[in-house]
Amino acid sequence: MKLRGRIAVAFCTVIMIPLLMITAVTFFVFQTQFDSMEQSFKIDEDTLAAVTNPILLVNRITRNVYNEVKLCAIKTPERLENRKYVESLNNKVKGKYSFLVLRRNGEITYSGSKDLTPELIERLPSYGEFSTEVDGGTYLGGMSPMLIKQTDFLYPDDSEGSAFVITNVSRVLEDLRKSLAQIVLSIVAIMFLTGAFVTYWLYRSVLYPLRVLQNSTNRMKEGDLNVSVQPMYADEIGELCEDFEKMRLHMKGLLEENMQHERESKELISNISHDLKTPLTAIKGYAEGLLDGVADTPQKREKYLRTIYTKASDMSTLVDELSMYAKIDTNAVPYNFQSLNLNQYFEDSIAECRLDLELQNMDLAYFPYVGKEQEIIADPEQLKRVVNNILSNAVKYREPSRKGIICIRTTDVDENYVQIELEDNGKGIGVKELPNIFERFYRTDVSRNSSTGGSGLGLAISKKIIEDHGGRIWAESRLGVGTTIYILLRKVVLQIHPHEEPEAAELGREKERLGLNGIVSKWNEKRRGNHE
Ligand code: ADP
Repeated sequence: MKLRGRIAVAFCTVIMIPLLMITAVTFFVFQTQFDSMEQSFKIDEDTLAAVTNPILLVNRITRNVYNEVKLCAIKTPERLENRKYVESLNNKVKGKYSFLVLRRNGEITYSGSKDLTPELIERLPSYGEFSTEVDGGTYLGGMSPMLIKQTDFLYPDDSEGSAFVITNVSRVLEDLRKSLAQIVLSIVAIMFLTGAFVTYWLYRSVLYPLRVLQNSTNRMKEGDLNVSVQPMYADEIGELCEDFEKMRLHMKGLLEENMQHERESKELISNISHDLKTPLTAIKGYAEGLLDGVADTPQKREKYLRTIYTKASDMSTLVDELSMYAKIDTNAVPYNFQSLNLNQYFEDSIAECRLDLELQNMDLAYFPYVGKEQEIIADPEQLKRVVNNILSNAVKYREPSRKGIICIRTTDVDENYVQIELEDNGKGIGVKELPNIFERFYRTDVSRNSSTGGSGLGLAISKKIIEDHGGRIWAESRLGVGTTIYILLRKVVLQIHPHEEPEAAELGREKERLGLNGIVSKWNEKRRGNHE
């Protein structure tokens, strides 16, 4: 639920729940109170009527006993001279906050309670002044209000008698007051509980998530980016938590990238210094040998000088590769993507290096399985760098016991890609090493002082170049059998429909060629965009 909805619900809860509960409690308290009154006082009136008119209620509670007194006074007044009978009548009204009083010729002959004060005796209506109907009575106000029911009669000796059933109204009303107190207490409890519930609910849904967010922010401030913040509810704060979590993950990613970069930089420096130190030590050693006259024959001197030259060349190659890798890694190499005829490109490249390879006792075969017209999008110079890297690896890691063979195949993959396979029959690469050969500075030789003089950068550079072409490069190899490097490159798709007229097809081809430049320049633009 949204925060707005939550506030609206909280508002309604604070208003509606107390209202409903107070109504229910009031009804319940009055109902039980009057039910018990009805039972104890034998009132058969409607509860609502009793609540709305408490005097009527007071009146009703002594109705039966008063009727009995009245009947007795009229029919058998002599019984009212009988103390025991009078006591029994009094006992009947005693539990109803009432008592019986008898007066004879103005003198009080019986009083069922101490509540009959001289003041009250004074205020009692005189004989014949007032005769109470069934539900009537005289109400005496003051500090202790009384309801007096009076019946006048004549004793057997004709003396004037009055029987009073007096009800202490304040005591009757005490029960009602108790009910009222219960209701007030209930209202306070209900309001407190509702308030506590709403406060807790709002705390859980608003303050608690905010506190969690605050904690995470503080921990992030201290550099701990591992505190995940999960949204608890689908509300505005939940959305904030989601955004916060995205920001945290993004920052964590950046930090990890940064750390990884830092680690790689350190590793790079260590690798570079190692790789430079090895030939440098050799150069220094041989130069010292020359200076100290250890190489005392012209043959030895030539050997020393040749080694110095080879090591210096290795260093130069390493520095060149390093600078190339640095450029390529920072996207500082300006690619010049063009549409190249795949077959033509490989035929030319192979013609260039065949002689070189033959001199190194390597055979090279080319098997084109793609259409003669197949065009690809590539930078010829950078693609050549990749092919040369792979070919030089085939030479470097050849199996000395057999004649080296390199096979190059170009095949169609789908409407978007062509595949180039460069297979050799060299030493091959172990299963464990194979996944790492495209990592920079990775060499399968345990000893880094490999006689091959590899820098471990060739395939890393190749991978980056191919990926920048929008292609893919991977390798398959078997130890002792050979290695195949696969390259996927993007095709320039020519759409010539066979059903078209030859001229139309020619025109279409022309158009496609024009469009092709568009594709190529688009590809170049995309690259430039990526570099920026
Ligand atoms: P290097 O300059 O050392 O050749 P590369 O990045 O070109 O670096 O190759 C990484 C490693 O992969 C090499 O050191 C070598 O161990 C292994 N490798 C690459 N190509 C071949 C291959 N054709 N045959 C056997 N091993 C290879």
